[in-house]
Amino acid sequence: MSEVIRLLPDNIANQIAAGEVIQRPASVVKELIENAVDASSSKVELHIKDAGKTSIQIIDNGKGMSAMDAQMCFERHATSKIEAAADLFNLNTKGFRGEALASIAAIAHVELETIEKDQEVGTKIEIAGSKISLQEPCSRANGTSISVKNLFFNVPARRNFLKSDNVETKHIVEEFNRIALTHPEIAFTFSHNGNVIHNLESAGLRKRIVDLFGRNFNNKLVPIEENTDLVNLKGFIVKPEYSKKTRGEQYFFVNNRFFKDSYLHHAVVSGYDNLIAPKHFPSYFIYMDVPSETLDVNVHPTKTEVKFEDQRNIYSILRSTIKLALGKYNIAPSLDFEREPQFDLTIEQQNSPIRQPEIKVDPTFNPFETSNAGQGSSNKGNSARPMPNTLRPNKKEWEDFYEITEEELTQEEDSTNQEIAFDKPQQSSGSKIQIHRNLIFVQIKSGILLIHLNRANERILYDDLMEQFMLSPIAGQQLMFPYEYNMQNTQKLEWENNATHLKRLGFDWDWQKNTLVLSSIPSMLEIEYVTQCLDGIVEKITHEDLDKGELVHELILSLSAAATNYKNKVLNEEELNYIVDRIFQSEQHQYSPSGNKIMSTITLEELYKYLS
Ligand code: ADP
Ligand code: MG
Repeated sequence: MSEVIRLLPDNIANQIAAGEVIQRPASVVKELIENAVDASSSKVELHIKDAGKTSIQIIDNGKGMSAMDAQMCFERHATSKIEAAADLFNLNTKGFRGEALASIAAIAHVELETIEKDQEVGTKIEIAGSKISLQEPCSRANGTSISVKNLFFNVPARRNFLKSDNVETKHIVEEFNRIALTHPEIAFTFSHNGNVIHNLESAGLRKRIVDLFGRNFNNKLVPIEENTDLVNLKGFIVKPEYSKKTRGEQYFFVNNRFFKDSYLHHAVVSGYDNLIAPKHFPSYFIYMDVPSETLDVNVHPTKTEVKFEDQRNIYSILRSTIKLALGKYNIAPSLDFEREPQFDLTIEQQNSPIRQPEIKVDPTFNPFETSNAGQGSSNKGNSARPMPNTLRPNKKEWEDFYEITEEELTQEEDSTNQEIAFDKPQQSSGSKIQIHRNLIFVQIKSGILLIHLNRANERILYDDLMEQFMLSPIAGQQLMFPYEYNMQNTQKLEWENNATHLKRLGFDWDWQKNTLVLSSIPSMLEIEYVTQCLDGIVEKITHEDLDKGELVHELILSLSAAATNYKNKVLNEEELNYIVDRIFQSEQHQYSPSGNKIMSTITLEELYKYLS
């Protein structure tokens, strides 16, 4: 038999191992910051160039390495962290396989400078493709600095596989966030192409979260805490009213290690009960501690998956802890969805004398007689902002709803044995009635269809903008006085990364340092809602790994939500018809693009119940 099995040369073995450990610049960032943290550093700096593709440098002030260790650390399975197999079960450090540095040195140009505490001379090493090209004494104040340049220089397939700078940067930001959140006591600096993205001082967890995600997080957080034999839980969850359409900040840590777990995510979501709107996600920062023998962290090479011995019980503990925390802070009543309509009254409305309800129904009314909708009225701004309507109303879908004969009505009446007078509404016609400006009642076969006007407008505008965006840039309105909006460095970076889309939406701007100075905004956006719109956009562009299509959706979503959040005016008949027609043309007429219910039916039966 010929010899087919041979030992691989070390550098090839390292390259293969590298494929598993190092998938992208973010993996290098993760491994190197973890090493810095394991070396008991109190300050760690991360500097990247071109999304880490050109260079990644990590500087720490930790315990450093001796000349011997500095050379050894690039050998495979060189780790100072395990001495006996038993140690594997009691690891408090981040890395323990001793293959990160060897892997990185196999596929990049690495420069290491390190000095041990209380030593006068440090060591400098240059290594590339697993070959040491320089080793000499050096002087440095303390700790270790590692630069990793030209990642995958010798593995072109991997290099070509890297995504855009935008996407790779987001992965790095995510790794950075995860570590920054597990070590609030460590100060971190993060810069990209010379721009400082974060400068985090040593802090407690709450401050760290706020420093990472923005000052407005401070009053969004609700602390959680629960100690049981099985698991100790602590951390923060975000109040339900700040839940988001996009997956935002969802962080689970176990024994101070980040992990993902859809089962436990579900526990959190179900702990929120019905407090969050459909398709919305809560943000959370949840830290669990379990005895290490009940946890398997080796189920996945990049270790974001873990296995708990007793998942099920952890699930229920987690769920009830969330419920309890939300209950304790008594935040349920301040929710702004599925509110009782009277909560939506403005002060002015609340103070006005209560009038007799004016709901009147015309049983002979046929909505199709007058439904040459689509023209809307030319009222400036505040109505549905009708746009040229090229689509035919999709009547079939709602015909069923509408067709109602006198016969049927009489039957209904008889069957419930009630005496109802059907007065004609004062301004003739009108099986559609607007009340409290934001609600429309439409008489339908089985009772009443209730429509949320703002949400309907949001859906209509969203559909229109989507269609328009694809065809041509959306018109902007020039501002007489520039509108200013402050951003953080990352946000500015992302804004510029998305400049083409944002210009197409009608924005135009300059910068004054980190202040966005808008000279033009989308034409349908009222100036008082610009901040709301920008908040939405900035959140989407900074926190999601979205492909182009998803991003366009999110941008238009932010714009249409902000542009339809006004106080409605009283609509005339034509306008009401227009809205109802238009909303039913939408394939998604049940939900607004932000995921809120647009319409609901109330059956006659239910209505009569109020009168029994
Ligand atoms: P692991 O972290 O799994 O032990 P690595 O390849 O990441 O393996 O690192 C190998 C060894 O190099 C570590 O065990 C540690 O002793 C040493 N080392 C790496 N980075 C640093 C650093 N920043 N400061 C001090 N020692 C370090
Ligand atoms: Mg390591």
